[in-house]
Amino acid sequence: MDDRERALDTAHRCAAEFLDTLDDRPVWPRASLEEMLTAFGGPLPEAGSDPAEVVDEIARLADPGLVAIPGGRFFGFVIGGTHPAALAADWLVSAWDQNSGSSRLTPTTVAMERIAGRWMLELFCLPSSASVGFVTGGQLANFTCLAAARGAVLARVGWDLAERGLRTAPRIRVVVGADRHGSIDRAARFLGFGRAELTVVESDDQGRMRPDALQHTLDQGRGPLIVCLQAGEVHTGAFDDFAALLPIAHAHGAWVHVDGAFGLWAAASESLRPLTAGMADADSWATDAHKTLNVPYDCGMAIVRDPADSIAAFRTGGDYLIYSGLDPWDVTPELSRRARGVPAWAVMRSLGRSGIETLLDRLHANATAMARGLAAIDGVEIVNDVDYTQVMFRLRDDDATAALGQAILAEGTAAVTGAEWRGRATLRCSMSSWATTGDDVDRTIAAITRLVLT
Ligand SMILES: *Cc1c(COP(=O)(O)O)cnc(C)c1O
Repeated sequence: MDDRERALDTAHRCAAEFLDTLDDRPVWPRASLEEMLTAFGGPLPEAGSDPAEVVDEIARLADPGLVAIPGGRFFGFVIGGTHPAALAADWLVSAWDQNSGSSRLTPTTVAMERIAGRWMLELFCLPSSASVGFVTGGQLANFTCLAAARGAVLARVGWDLAERGLRTAPRIRVVVGADRHGSIDRAARFLGFGRAELTVVESDDQGRMRPDALQHTLDQGRGPLIVCLQAGEVHTGAFDDFAALLPIAHAHGAWVHVDGAFGLWAAASESLRPLTAGMADADSWATDAHKTLNVPYDCGMAIVRDPADSIAAFRTGGDYLIYSGLDPWDVTPELSRRARGVPAWAVMRSLGRSGIETLLDRLHANATAMARGLAAIDGVEIVNDVDYTQVMFRLRDDDATAALGQAILAEGTAAVTGAEWRGRATLRCSMSSWATTGDDVDRTIAAITRLVLT
């Protein structure tokens, strides 16, 4: 075997060994950052090493600091696992090393992305003519969509943003919900909108924007307007009432953006689709493949109704580049880029429409079962309506809730993460992984029951 084959063989063996430990290893890392800095530290070696030995060394040193995200009992934040088809396809992406910005240079991977995008539009019940830009995640998808929005609302009042810039442009009102994801503020900041420039609209007890409050806010002003709505609030999983909100926003001439990092996928299930009613009338949508679709990190999608608006924001110059219509670099901020759409294509090809629907229904069923099991523990209260994939729970006392969160991580059966909700400490349990079984839910409930009752 040559160096390359031995290195790949070693990677294959080490990956399989790690994946085989998932069912039994403590979910939370056993080592701290400091310990991992020591493990991988020391000066840059003067002499080189054999590639296979390097891979073996990585696997050996890395293990204590790895978190069992691809397993069935990681419920922290909103983080999917990795479907086998996506994992294996992602290895091919690395082996192929295609710089997937241009369809002329890399027709295979650009075609796979374009088809993957088309399949997603079908799953989300969105217009088939929309552009789908594959970016690193929900954060960059929000940024990419809002960049298209910013240029488009200025173009409507005769301002060419690409030519004249933002500093002396007409003011844009950016309207957001009180319970928006932090990545909206961050995207706005990257785009030149400060925190004080965002107009915040009140939300209800589940974090949904209130239509009467939106109406009132929009009536206060005029001019270029962007309204950011949400499919899937990160704590409660709640969906904005698109059917009520979108007509109000559009009557005021707004560009409506939907952050649906994990919520857009509800449209792929017949039973969950009603949560998204009215959502398809928006102008842009951000979502993730590395959460609900269970591809490995990283992959998000920026979907824009009129591709001309993404092109206006992103098409690049450079006479050495080869142009051929709608290329990835026309609709994303990147130039050189990884073929992120390939693992997404692979999962959709492997599961099919019915498999994706089953995946969504199982995530929801797992959330319901988790909520039921936790609610049965004396002293545990479920905080949210479990309409989708998120379960929030707490004990009567905030300190006890925080202590329980620490105890769950230390015990190791499962991982949940904490958050403050309406001024109270809560623990969040997100069902995002294809790998979670009913047994994983039962084992988690049993572990939490023991911790609460002792
Ligand atoms: C996760 C999430 C994001 C950010 O997505 P990344 O993939 O982490 O960049 C944005 N919005 C919501 C609602 C999310 O859940």
